[in-house]
Amino acid sequence: MANETIALISLGCSKNLVNSEQMLCLLDDAGFSVVPEADGADAVIVNTCGFIDAAKSEAIDVILEMGALKAAGRLGKLIVAGCLPERYRAEIRTELPEVDALVGVGSFAEIVSVLRETLDGGCPERFGDRCAPVDEVGRFLTTGPGWAYLKIAEGCDNRCAFCAIPDIRGRYRSRPMENILAEAGALAQSGVRELIVVAQDITRYGTDLYHRRALAELCRKLSEIGGIEWIRLHYLYPDLFDDGLIDEIAGNDKIVKYLDIPIQHINDNILRSMNRRGTGTEIRALFRRLRDRVPGLVLRTSLIAGLPGEGPEEFEELCDFLREARIERAGVFPFSPEEGTPAAEMDDRCPPEEAQRRAELVMELQGEIMDAFQSAQIGKTLRVLCTGVDGAFRTGRSWADSPDIDGTVYFTGSCPPGEFCPVHITGLMDGELMGEEAVSC
Ligand code: SF4
Repeated sequence: MANETIALISLGCSKNLVNSEQMLCLLDDAGFSVVPEADGADAVIVNTCGFIDAAKSEAIDVILEMGALKAAGRLGKLIVAGCLPERYRAEIRTELPEVDALVGVGSFAEIVSVLRETLDGGCPERFGDRCAPVDEVGRFLTTGPGWAYLKIAEGCDNRCAFCAIPDIRGRYRSRPMENILAEAGALAQSGVRELIVVAQDITRYGTDLYHRRALAELCRKLSEIGGIEWIRLHYLYPDLFDDGLIDEIAGNDKIVKYLDIPIQHINDNILRSMNRRGTGTEIRALFRRLRDRVPGLVLRTSLIAGLPGEGPEEFEELCDFLREARIERAGVFPFSPEEGTPAAEMDDRCPPEEAQRRAELVMELQGEIMDAFQSAQIGKTLRVLCTGVDGAFRTGRSWADSPDIDGTVYFTGSCPPGEFCPVHITGLMDGELMGEEAVSC
């Protein structure tokens, strides 16, 4: 039985975190000791994101930091996994000699043999088929208490012109529904109350395996699992909403009335040149329809400022749309030309500093909308999932807050972490809701 100590650093998005948790589970099952710090460990696995420049820089900084620990004799081996080696395998080998082993996105399930070989002095590389059916592997939960991500598919077929993910992560593959339900049941048994359903695009769920859109059916079945009280949906592609899905979202009390629908832009020409399906008119109509059907709905979206073809007029159209749609939660990135993508080859590019300026303007505009939404919660009593204790306060999240990207509710009371309680909102501090545990909502 192995007894070496292994640390894992997970970078990037929630989908990558699920892969990290699967690797930790395999290592734990194989008898390795998972430790929180790389300093002093026999090996560290850095599970990387290579989606955009900022993510690549972060990954390289962490690799260099781990390399320095190794050089100082405070770390044994350095394994780099995930999107960065999938995209830059040769470059890592030549530019980052401190890296001992590489694991691509099709080979997470081989982590135990990679680690063994590395600890025994080898320099293995594993790059399995990125388009193979999803590996069904257990999880070593690093989130919670009370909540966990539930990944329902891998890869993406959408081919947005600015995005490298389909090339890195492979074609779209849904997980079989029975496997997802079994995993959700086990999570519920372990105390999970909120499932955060993720994939690059969850609206497409089932189209490959079952030749039909099956997200509504999956949500209905997830909501029948005892113990699951919130089902939060992330990354819904706007043009794949159908009546069945909207009915399910509106009528199923367990589906959190918070939808993350990345639209990227609203101008028709830009949407078309970015190979996004649907028009600005259709996006506006969808948002109106969702607001009509789902009272109290909180919308989240992602936007890109400075896409090729975005002049002052197109940018103003985006800002006008945001003023009118009053989307409660939004993230915005300046356009980053990713090598190998069609958008990186396009003319009519906005200078990077102008793209950055526009992204900041959008954040300013959205900041006002988000502040107004937060202020409107004062005086209400909200159902909150308690997620921990911070000094004199409990911390938690309401329906309007997804972990890591939205806010925290700070409140006084005695609710155990991992349980729900009503919280009367009494004020704001630095934009975060403050309150006290109440008797009922
Ligand atoms: S939907 Fe578009 S932006 Fe999202 S992962 Fe797929 S290709 Fe990338």
